[in-house]
Amino acid sequence: MVTAPRFQEIRDWSPGYINVTPEHVTIMAECTACGATREFAREKLPSHLHFSLISEIEPHLKCSSCGAKAGKLRFGSYVA
Ligand SMILES: [Zn+2]
Repeated sequence: MVTAPRFQEIRDWSPGYINVTPEHVTIMAECTACGATREFAREKLPSHLHFSLISEIEPHLKCSSCGAKAGKLRFGSYVA
């Protein structure tokens, strides 16, 4: 049986700006309305947000499950 890697959040840490987030850090977008999470793809970010604060990006996140704009970005990595 293969166990899926688990996402472990770095508690109480934010890089501040998206462009200074280290490459090895995995970003997860979480919907605070319905709890859905999915991996956040930095390369899909619109170019005008490439050098933005995390707090400026979060209002643009729209949940693909429930449609709410209640996204929160979490930073961490996958652990086996
Ligand atoms: Zn949602």
